[in-house]
Amino acid sequence: MARLAHVVPLAPVGGVYTYAVPDELDEEATVGARVLVPFGRRQLTGVVVRRDEGDADGAKPLAGALDGRPALTPELLALTEWVAGYYLCTWGEALKSALPSGAEVESRRVARVRAPAAAWPDEVRSRTVLAALADAPDGLPLDAVARALGRATVPHALLQRLADAGALEIVDEVQAARARARIEKHLRLAPGVTPEAAVADLRGARQRDLVWYLAEADGLVRQAEALATAQASSSTVAGLVARGLVEVVDAEVERRTDGLDDAHVPPPDVALHPMQARALDALTDAIATRQPRTFLLEGVTGSGKTEVYLRALRAVRERGQTGLVLVPEIALTPQTVRRFTAHFPGEVAVLHSRMSPGERLDAWTRIRDGVYPIVVGPRSAVWAPVADLGLVVVDEEHEASYKQFDPAPRYHARDVAVLRAHQAGAVCVLGSATPSLESVANARAGKYVHLLMPDRVPVRGREAAPLPTVRIVDLTREREIRRLKGALSLPLREAIQARLDRDEQTILLQNRRGYAPVLTCESCGFTPMCRDCAVSLTVHKTNRTLRCHYCGLAERIPPQCPSCGEHALKLLGAGTQRVEEELASVFPAARVLRMDLDTTSRKGAHRQLLDRFGRGEADLLLGTQMVAKGLDFPRVTLVGVVEADTGMLLPDFRAAERTFSLLAQVAGRAGRHDLEGEVILQTRNPDHPAVRFALAHDVAGFQAHELAERRALGYPPFGRLIGAEVKGPDERTTRELAQRWTTALEREAMKIAGVQVLGPVPAFVGRVQRQWRFHTLLKAPRTVPHAALAEAVRRANAAAPAPSRHRVNVDVDPVGLY
Ligand code: ADP
Ligand code: ZN
Repeated sequence: MARLAHVVPLAPVGGVYTYAVPDELDEEATVGARVLVPFGRRQLTGVVVRRDEGDADGAKPLAGALDGRPALTPELLALTEWVAGYYLCTWGEALKSALPSGAEVESRRVARVRAPAAAWPDEVRSRTVLAALADAPDGLPLDAVARALGRATVPHALLQRLADAGALEIVDEVQAARARARIEKHLRLAPGVTPEAAVADLRGARQRDLVWYLAEADGLVRQAEALATAQASSSTVAGLVARGLVEVVDAEVERRTDGLDDAHVPPPDVALHPMQARALDALTDAIATRQPRTFLLEGVTGSGKTEVYLRALRAVRERGQTGLVLVPEIALTPQTVRRFTAHFPGEVAVLHSRMSPGERLDAWTRIRDGVYPIVVGPRSAVWAPVADLGLVVVDEEHEASYKQFDPAPRYHARDVAVLRAHQAGAVCVLGSATPSLESVANARAGKYVHLLMPDRVPVRGREAAPLPTVRIVDLTREREIRRLKGALSLPLREAIQARLDRDEQTILLQNRRGYAPVLTCESCGFTPMCRDCAVSLTVHKTNRTLRCHYCGLAERIPPQCPSCGEHALKLLGAGTQRVEEELASVFPAARVLRMDLDTTSRKGAHRQLLDRFGRGEADLLLGTQMVAKGLDFPRVTLVGVVEADTGMLLPDFRAAERTFSLLAQVAGRAGRHDLEGEVILQTRNPDHPAVRFALAHDVAGFQAHELAERRALGYPPFGRLIGAEVKGPDERTTRELAQRWTTALEREAMKIAGVQVLGPVPAFVGRVQRQWRFHTLLKAPRTVPHAALAEAVRRANAAAPAPSRHRVNVDVDPVGLY
């Protein structure tokens, strides 16, 4: 009997592979540990998912172990296996998303020249390869050899011939992981050294300062930090080391740059409102009795949901358990995140998308080791390796950013959170002012416990702020009767002027960045399009460029029409830059801050803008949907929506839901404190349900209306959807693949009652970054089990495999355009 490890490679190859465990790896290659395995011509990182004994039967031995202790707990192994099955990806892909990125080790094949030039064969391609290798003393990876020849694929046959002839050698080279723990020099007083005695013998003031500094620090201090504080140099240290007073030790340092943890403001101790107390009681009951229930906390903006999360977390911490808090995007919710770090100083790890691989690894290691019992982060935080989980919070659970698209697994973090909490015996809270219809349906069906907080909490002993009054301005009528030219109607202008007069603040939403979304020639109708994507280019004021919002391509605005040569180019529509310009001309004295992707690309820029607005350094905050999220500024009494229609008419069954939630969220920013709030919605579709129900703050009314619509059409939450995006570099081959795959799927779907296959159709944006895109949708009633649909898709994948450079991306429970 041999010891065996069953390993899932962290790569899109399916399957579990069996390896023999050499004696020296027996202890490290435990279940959940990362190991290095021989795989075909390469070595790959994999995770041990099972250990047992049996006949080694030709199994290759493991090549190495990468962790002193298991990277993944059995809980996370089970969760990733479920995710792979549900979202139709390989277990390896799911495991990869649960591990910190950049930590995997891979081998690559490298070719090195062996024969001197005189002995090279007299053949052009061989000589080209060998000459390229001769220029690279450490050898070249095989794909670089291919590039040297100007071809896309590796010339394996040629290389093998040259290797057989002794002209070159091909070796496996294990590449180090991109992310590794950072080791730095640290200082401490040598054992038995007392500072008083030590300084008595020292002449140099620097040396004495350093000794005192180390004595006070009482432990390891980073050398760089100690030297800077004591204004000492490395020779100061060398002198102290020579006298045996100080020791230099290598130790790991944590890289952290979130900058959020510095706000140790003492949390205000508020008395809970009765509706908050009721919600909290329900949560703490479940926490205390370890009932793994899911709660839908539906509370209007300003009803005090965050306060409830904080108290529930406190209850969990008092029991020694841990908590996960998911937020849509850290950069967009700095105020919320700061409340968590301030309540639990030193206990919170904040994960965010701008962390370097090293920072991510450091945070991940410390979470696994129990240093941080609370993790706050975006969707990937659902994989955080906390042990003994007590509570999972998903804030703004309706947000589309919880769904991952690329790469696989295309998981929905909210749904994975619910499952993870359930499997761990933990309580899960989904919070929102405008919950997703999926969660509403689950609450109605009794799967989730529905907690309602319909009122705003009274702040600082005053009356509760009423929800703001909402007014609608019909843009079509404005244009007719008042000959409106710009983007701001007269009622909106008057309302802004009134705020300027009273020294109050305004938030303006225009959910479209750039200057103008379309440039068109009035003479011939020509519109500049992206050369790589099937979309028109957006006009940007900065550097007078046309930019593609799909691939980032930028070119100069042509002086005249590139098609007919006339000077008749006209800007259609308004983005944030154009609204900013209009504000400057209408209100020359007003101070305006613009917040969109273009003004927040620098690290920390988003937070700086918000801080400035919070300090009252501006009268207006104008921006895209970024201004709608989680902001709480007492002096904001007006919210204006410049064009409520921007996302409303997209060919997506969730367009109304998304518009309603955006309008309700942004409206919630007005009048949160003691000043009364007002909302003005400008729209060309005043009768659209999203607008009508937002006007009345009628969330329940919108839900009922929309649920009826979805039921009639068989869409989620009443139906199941699986989408497929077929992508390729050539229109014809991509269309053919889409057709083949869809036909294969139809054959399978026919065997299941009630299932529809829709497509293939060209995607809404039919070409992105030179890739043609087609979509197919599998639609089934909720009563059809997911497993049956999954099996149909697997068979279609097997029957119509994608040729090279083409892909079929399967997306279970898709969110977005189809
Ligand atoms: P939500 O997350 O539902 O938008 P928050 O938890 O952010 O609401 O609460 C809104 C504001 O009210 C915050 O400034 C918060 O500090 C304050 N607040 C919350 N609960 C109470 C309470 N019980 N008494 C007084 N102020 C409260
Ligand atoms: Zn493009």
